[in-house]
Amino acid sequence: MDFDEWCDTYKPIVNHIDKNASFDNGEGGIMFETYGDEVEFVKAQDANKIWMYGDGDDGGSYIWSGWGFVNRLGYFITDKPCPDNVTIQVRVSYNWFYCENCSAEFEDPDNIIRDAFDEHDLEKCPECATLEEITLVGLENKNANV
Ligand SMILES: [Zn+2]
Repeated sequence: MDFDEWCDTYKPIVNHIDKNASFDNGEGGIMFETYGDEVEFVKAQDANKIWMYGDGDDGGSYIWSGWGFVNRLGYFITDKPCPDNVTIQVRVSYNWFYCENCSAEFEDPDNIIRDAFDEHDLEKCPECATLEEITLVGLENKNANV
């Protein structure tokens, strides 16, 4: 299930507290913050309608069914409850590679780019590395895709 399918299926409600909430679905932002009135509102909902948004171990971001605290960035509340005894994980984004050298940013889903340059202690990316460096780290075939 991807993020759009999740929205279609579980119908996240719009955050009525913060008019500038994240994840604008066209009618308003659907993310609730982890503090203040917003988290109090989240806590008052049925547990099976609460979803957590946060960073996954792979650097991507995810929505998980249920209430939690680890790595959480925000919460969603849905109209439709998560089914009982089911844990749902929805990928929202892939991890991003940020280049310290040239400030380029791009998706690096499997950390291939990061790992390749790390291994050779190069703080570079395919955007700013020389052809020799690209060849050194073994990304010459991937350069065209970036
Ligand atoms: Zn770079």
